[in-house]
Amino acid sequence: MTFELTILGSSSAIPTSERYLTAQVLNALERFFLIDCGEGTQIRLRQMKFSFDRIRHIFISHLHGDHFYGLPGFISTRNLMGIKTDLHIYSHSDLIKMLDPLLEHLKEDLPFKLVFHPLNFKKFDQIFSDEKIEVFSFPLNHRIPCCGFLFREKQQIPNLIRQKIEEYRIPVRQLRAIKEGADYEDENGRIIPHAELTYPPVKPRSYAFCTDTTCLDAVAGIVSEVDLLYHEATFLHRDENLAGLTFHSTARQAATLALKANVKKLILGHFSTRYKKTDPFLEEAKAVFENTELASDGTRFTIPLQKSACQS
Ligand SMILES: [Zn+2]
Repeated sequence: MTFELTILGSSSAIPTSERYLTAQVLNALERFFLIDCGEGTQIRLRQMKFSFDRIRHIFISHLHGDHFYGLPGFISTRNLMGIKTDLHIYSHSDLIKMLDPLLEHLKEDLPFKLVFHPLNFKKFDQIFSDEKIEVFSFPLNHRIPCCGFLFREKQQIPNLIRQKIEEYRIPVRQLRAIKEGADYEDENGRIIPHAELTYPPVKPRSYAFCTDTTCLDAVAGIVSEVDLLYHEATFLHRDENLAGLTFHSTARQAATLALKANVKKLILGHFSTRYKKTDPFLEEAKAVFENTELASDGTRFTIPLQKSACQS
């Protein structure tokens, strides 16, 4: 039941020897979602021992090179490895035009299908859903169309209390209905309430990714109460003007948004290479929102399962 984020790249615009360009993997119950794919992503994936086959969904926030130039290399390596599982890419529709010439010579040979899902940059939108996980995109504010992503476990139905089921000798055929909210009526007409027979399911876990954007009030509502928020902090607050001009955020602005949204933890990344040290980002953010950490390549952030009171 893992819900874990791994940072593959945490620099903005230009890679350094310690920091590659933006890319992350979210392991959400063994679904390995790749979020952005800057140059060097496949090298970090190899270093961090992620299976290329397990990565079947890639989410690209926007079409600036530092967020997607790693894609051709990743696709080419997946091809050379002979991987056959389809690869879904969620991005601006222009990505297809950009990748086409690069992949043209590969296409006939590709042993897997590339499935493109164009993002909507105007509204909150569900873009992925299966029985356990859902993913949403939402508009950010950058120089070109840009989306954030919200990954969330689905609310599960309550669990049965085994002792109670045995105590009241409830037939197996009734158990599904009870899990879904029904009370139980025994042969004497006595009603046993649903609440006495079940305990609440675990709290769904969530992660939100916001990069290359000014801080938006609307985003605070969307990422409200998430367990983990990654927000870009390209600049320190002394360069607030520059942040505004380039449609980026400062550490203080990101922390203010985290506070407003009442998130559990904030991770800052996408640091400008103009700064020699990143400690001041942490200092600045912590003054506003204490539970802040800085992203660095190779770090993992695990969101533990939050058991309900009745579980051991
Ligand atoms: Zn960027």
